Amino acid sequence: MMNAVERRSDTEPIIDLELERQEILKRYRRLLRAAKPMLKGDDAKLIKKAFNTSAEAHKNMRRRSGEPYIYHPLAVAQIAVEEIGLGTTSIVAALLHDVVEDTDTTIADIDRAFGPKVARIIDGLTKISGYFEYGSSQQAENFRKMLLTLSDDVRVILIKLADRLHNMRTLESMPRDKQLKIASETIYIYAPLAHRLGLYSIKSELEDLYLKHVEPEAYKDIAKKLRETRLARDRFIGRFIEPIEKDLAETGIKYVIKGRPKSIYSIWTKLNKSKKPFEEIYDLFAVRIILDVPPDEEKAACWRAYSIVTDHYKPNPDRLKDWISTRVPTAMNRFIQR
Ligand code: MN
Repeated sequence: MMNAVERRSDTEPIIDLELERQEILKRYRRLLRAAKPMLKGDDAKLIKKAFNTSAEAHKNMRRRSGEPYIYHPLAVAQIAVEEIGLGTTSIVAALLHDVVEDTDTTIADIDRAFGPKVARIIDGLTKISGYFEYGSSQQAENFRKMLLTLSDDVRVILIKLADRLHNMRTLESMPRDKQLKIASETIYIYAPLAHRLGLYSIKSELEDLYLKHVEPEAYKDIAKKLRETRLARDRFIGRFIEPIEKDLAETGIKYVIKGRPKSIYSIWTKLNKSKKPFEEIYDLFAVRIILDVPPDEEKAACWRAYSIVTDHYKPNPDRLKDWISTRVPTAMNRFIQR
């Protein structure tokens, strides 16, 4: 039997490899559970093969935090399933996304083992990593190139966003200069990209994480004030929603109303622009009405809901954006499954 305990140097803590192995399996099973509802045919086998390939390729690598490297591809795959809603091909690609860049495995190896679809996605992901190495003057051009890749297979961008989100969530273990570089790339390139693809909660989280690392004092200050004013804000949102809810119920349309506080980043931007103190920022929250109607009734139902809102509240024409009539047709859905 192999010695399950490894000590990398005298000063480093003892690592229990058996415990780590169990933790890796636990995280792998969590991924399978999340993916389960959409698995078909041989999907589970394919995911297992990708996991084993990735675990083997990265087995001697650790993240800067000291954790086994495989935690990262597992987390990226988890985000792809749970937070973006991607399917098996994307899970496989997410698990393998750093294999070509960081190990001896080649695109040809991936092609042989997982087929051309996965190989093309990994190839796209590996190329994107190279794009941003040339400094900021290249960034606009790079951005354009990246969008071109998107027409090829939007999954490349979606997995890249999952990758970036996990790197931002684990930014603490990076040295300061790397933190700043990764954070600024995130705010200039990845957050706008997430926004453009309609991944709003990922966009907000990327922005908040940017602020947390680049302007930690401002971030903490706003977070604290939001916590302190939470109760009053919830009550206000409740009172605001009440009359709308009453009228909506009478239409017979199925709906959900959600009040949500604005992200810390968006409040920070507002504070900077308006030069007003936190206490005078009026729109600290947003209300979202989600309607459940057949697609051909969506437009009419949205206008109906809008009409109900304006029965109770006066719209501000300067701030009004009509996304109902000018909706951008999205090519995303046909990529999401499989
Ligand atoms: Mn990665």
